Amino acid sequence: MENPWAVAQHQFDIAADALDLGSGVRAVLRVPKRELIVNFPVTLDDGSVKVFTGYRVHHNTARGPTKGGIRYHPDTNLDEVRALAMWMTWKCAVVNIPYGGAKGGVICDPKQLSPAELERLTRRYTTEISILLGPAKDIPAPDVNTTPQVMAWIMDTFSMHHGYTIPAVVTGKPINIGGSRGRNEATARGTTIVIGEAARQIGLNLTGAKVAIQGYGNAGSIAAQLLHDLGAVVVAVSDSRGGIYNASGLDPTAVLRFKRATGSVIGFPEADRLSNAELLELPCDILVPATLENQITSANASRIKARMIAEAANGPTTPEADMILADRGVLVLPDILANAGGVTVSYFEWVQDLQDFFWTEREVNEKLERVMVASYENVRAIAEQRKVHLRTAAYLLAVQRVAEATLTRGIYP
Ligand code: NAD
Repeated sequence: MENPWAVAQHQFDIAADALDLGSGVRAVLRVPKRELIVNFPVTLDDGSVKVFTGYRVHHNTARGPTKGGIRYHPDTNLDEVRALAMWMTWKCAVVNIPYGGAKGGVICDPKQLSPAELERLTRRYTTEISILLGPAKDIPAPDVNTTPQVMAWIMDTFSMHHGYTIPAVVTGKPINIGGSRGRNEATARGTTIVIGEAARQIGLNLTGAKVAIQGYGNAGSIAAQLLHDLGAVVVAVSDSRGGIYNASGLDPTAVLRFKRATGSVIGFPEADRLSNAELLELPCDILVPATLENQITSANASRIKARMIAEAANGPTTPEADMILADRGVLVLPDILANAGGVTVSYFEWVQDLQDFFWTEREVNEKLERVMVASYENVRAIAEQRKVHLRTAAYLLAVQRVAEATLTRGIYP
């Protein structure tokens, strides 16, 4: 099962069955509330015009306005965005923040666009989807290949339309225009907190634990740094061009400096090369997928040697792989829990913007830690009570919360 939307619906069905969800509410939650497809022109630097296709999907609004990132990628498509939107609904419910799920995407290769072209694309895409956006309606955030600068252009474009500055329309902004301290690190920090809790649970000492991280963007590179700071040994990391390996440990800060200077982790001195496929199968204690969906499948799950997989990425593991990993006793920390630190601090950013009252990084990190530890504990307790794995437990918690909100609100009219 490699279509992310089929995966997302399958995961939902497992939870709906286990919760014995009524057929009406099940039918409501199984599909997105609304989907917008936009085809829009952008003038390229050479004067030619190119038409791009973008999406914004709202999965559910029962618990509040929708929240979810925007992805720029050549392979994105409506089914991927639908899946990512549904996962956002469950993720916000797992950490109990008052949002529904959304996601956006534009089919493009940002590496082929100049900064000026990227800005024009972002401003036009924002304009095209602005009928859906607003601090009380739908609040985008960064995802693959979208940065704080892209969020700044979204905020500015939306604000220009309205004639005044509206910081709370988007999160993951630069701090000087209403971003939150700690937001850039939040996804990886949340993942690291959940890894710490789970490690304690299974008696794995993080000091000296061997970690392999697939992807060296926002989630992957910062997870590498935070785990390194806790004493773990980051033996391998990768990006879209491949991976690097050093059994005695890489220095994550030096690797990041190298990637910023050269565009890739490949070529980092004092490391051997390996492929992304090889990285996933390395002997290690903790594997952190931090790229795209469908990385751990029935084709490689039986060869994965990690004790624990912490899903910084959304949807990295297929349902077939989940079953193989469960049989083999590999502990999977599911995406809707393990990467929920990002949306949690996005929520903090939105709250700060709405109140025009900003918190210190320490306040942000302490609040994040409380949310992640409590959410992990809630999910773990359900897993224990119901004798299910953490993914199903997280779904049971999330789907139940969203179903209850849906039923309490009732059907209009
Ligand atoms: P990013 O654009 O900052 O980094 C993506 C990384 O993945 C890059 O290093 C890129 O080279 C690598 N990559 C892309 N395609 C690859 C491939 N086919 N094989 C190997 N590497 C590949 O993106 P990000 O924000 O770090 O997002 C990574 C994952 O984390 C995504 O699944 C995203 O949905 C998820 N996530 C991100 C956030 C966030 O706040 N940024 C929050 C929650 C979840």
